[in-house]
Amino acid sequence: MGESVIPLADLRTLARPARIPAQPIPATGLLSDQLGRPLRDLRISVTDRCNFRCSYCMPKEVFDRDYRFLPQSSLLSFEEITRVASLFVAHGVTKLRLTGGEPLLRKGLEALVQQLSALRTPAGDALDITLTTNGTLLARKAVALREAGLKRVTVSLDALDDAIFRRMNDVDFPVADVLAGIDAALAAGLAPIKINMVVKRGTNDHEIVPLARHVRERFGPGVVLRFIEYMDVGATNGWRLDEVLPSAEVRARLHAAFALEKLPPSAAGETAERWRYADGGGEVGFISSVTQAFCGDCNRARLSTEGKLFLCLFATRGHDLRSLLRGGASDEDIASAIGLAWQERDDRYSELRGSGTADAGSGERRIEMHYIGG
Ligand code: SAM
Ligand code: SF4
Ligand code: SF4
Repeated sequence: MGESVIPLADLRTLARPARIPAQPIPATGLLSDQLGRPLRDLRISVTDRCNFRCSYCMPKEVFDRDYRFLPQSSLLSFEEITRVASLFVAHGVTKLRLTGGEPLLRKGLEALVQQLSALRTPAGDALDITLTTNGTLLARKAVALREAGLKRVTVSLDALDDAIFRRMNDVDFPVADVLAGIDAALAAGLAPIKINMVVKRGTNDHEIVPLARHVRERFGPGVVLRFIEYMDVGATNGWRLDEVLPSAEVRARLHAAFALEKLPPSAAGETAERWRYADGGGEVGFISSVTQAFCGDCNRARLSTEGKLFLCLFATRGHDLRSLLRGGASDEDIASAIGLAWQERDDRYSELRGSGTADAGSGERRIEMHYIGG
């Protein structure tokens, strides 16, 4: 099949201005969207740049040296991020995840972690703050991140075999350095660590059992390996359904090597189905975003690097909060704008995809994963 590369129209500039409602929407923590879902989880993209070119996320042919990443001036500053995050927390968010792009490429990220870890929920509790990284800079940064208040990390790792790993990151980065990053994170006390493996049939599916075995043997039960179905996110990765290996099949292959037992979910809105090794070797997770839509209790919002609020991973447009932040809007106004956007939210892309009606209507291209984060 001849693959044509479609130039990226700059969807990043497409955003509705966030509307400030005539009546304030006070932050009571009881916000609910059109489908009755609360707002609990905010994912913050701190950079759109990355030192990897995973083909399922930032294919090299599109994200090449001519690609224009966001200029520094358009990124939210750490102070702006912390201010917006505090308004989300007032609305009920208890969990913050720093992502990207590769978040550890953002200079001085520890300072942001420090500012965010000083935030408290209205009940006075600390937030659950985590970070998703490709692990390349973890060996260097783990201690500083821990000292700044980060509690745990999620590391993406798609293969144990060095040749496959280098091919998947497409920049020839060795797997040993990521494994050393995970060692460093464990030594720094960043726990529990989660490892995310995106499974692509025909590319790395034969790595499922070897990676699981290695994680059990090298790291033990303190590290949870999670298998993610390859998703049709963005518009550049050439996604095909036949490259998705359903979680049920991943689990069957793993179960053939190590007996598994199902665990109850630990929190409402949790994306992963949890299982454990029957021999006490730890836990594994399955994120079935394609074969088992979990929109029903999706409590996640995403803040892009330049301050746009996205209400779904598959959204085509964001709500521009940066113009409010930089235009002198008060905290009350910005909180009301966030409240209104959430109250009007009716996104449930994965469910609609499952029923064959996704994308009906707008025809707009979806935003890329490296821009709004995972
Ligand atoms: N660069 C960091 C990393 O890779 O961990 C953080 C950003 S990355 C966009 C966040 C997560 O999204 C990663 O775990 C990555 O594997 C996952 N991801 C990216 N594209 C995906 C796709 N098409 N399907 C499933 N997961 C994907
Ligand atoms: Fe970079 Fe993460 Fe995307 Fe891979 S998945 S290209 S590491 S942002
Ligand atoms: Fe949430 Fe959208 Fe994913 Fe559904 S498709 S689970 S609404 S992010």
